[in-house]
Amino acid sequence: MLTGKHLVILGGDARQLEVIKKLNELDAQLSLVGFDQLDQHLTGTSKVDLDEIDFSRVDSIILPSSGANEDGVVETIFSNKTIKVSKDWLAKTPDHCTIYSGISTPFLDALIKECNKELIKLFERDDVAIYNSVPTVEGAVMIVIQNTDITIHKSNVVVLGLGRTGMSVARTFDALGAYVKVGARRPEHIARITEMGLKPFYMKDIEKHIKDVDIIINTVPAKVLSSKVLSHVPVNALIVDLASKPGGTDFRYAEKRGIKALLTPGLPGMVAPKSAGRIIANVLSELLLDKFSGEDE
Ligand code: NAP
Repeated sequence: MLTGKHLVILGGDARQLEVIKKLNELDAQLSLVGFDQLDQHLTGTSKVDLDEIDFSRVDSIILPSSGANEDGVVETIFSNKTIKVSKDWLAKTPDHCTIYSGISTPFLDALIKECNKELIKLFERDDVAIYNSVPTVEGAVMIVIQNTDITIHKSNVVVLGLGRTGMSVARTFDALGAYVKVGARRPEHIARITEMGLKPFYMKDIEKHIKDVDIIINTVPAKVLSSKVLSHVPVNALIVDLASKPGGTDFRYAEKRGIKALLTPGLPGMVAPKSAGRIIANVLSELLLDKFSGEDE
């Protein structure tokens, strides 16, 4: 249990409600900042402003998935107030106070270093990335259905990257009856793609493998769909770029050529906020229980 542990939750979206529920069940003392417009009453928690918190008594701080932007502003959909992460209060937290966030940003990295704190980036963890691949793939299927006039079944699909997301994408489109080719750059990935019963190709040979494609799903966070590569893609193909901003596609050139290319960030929070929130809540609660285990014996 997290009895007596004071956790501050700073902003977020619907996913954070699952985190709040889970940590509340574990009996943590929760201060919610940036939730003043949330209708739901969360018994046992307090909606507060930053200046009401005694940061010398905070055991952990939980930021939203996106961390904090270049001005330190934290996203929140449940408040119109501007909430900022700042040295003024972060420096007052006890040494053991850890910060949890989905991702980091240059601002957050610099501040964390300056205040000598520990930042845990939840989305960098393999378990979170693999669990998150499930709602991501469901979102990708939705985007494909909404943006094509053909069935996925018997369509030619190219998946780029066999990482934690790419593997789930490839498996799902295969299960839906598509002809799936997967591009990767490591021999062991080529072997795994073959073992999965799919057609592998090396990324360096990509131009040869996209000439008759209907749908390309990119998971590689590097410019793999350059103008040169795109010049070989049929104009009626659909590109769904799942990689984090700015994606792996030359969108300017795709538009010029008339290829529909969509950058689709944040699918888990969009298509399944409750499930995506539970993924974060489960991992976060395990981390917090581990961190504080032994203290109450
Ligand atoms: P990952 O496990 O690291 O997989 C990335 C893949 O890209 C790996 O197969 C990697 O190959 C390959 N790769 C990286 N750089 C490459 C390059 N220059 N050339 C060729 N291949 C390269 O990452 P992930 O968890 O699957 O996530 C993939 C991307 O999707 C990330 O940008 C992530 O932020 C994003 N994402 C988006 C959503 C959404 O809602 N749109 C949801 C989840 C994740 P190697 O192993 O050879 O390096």
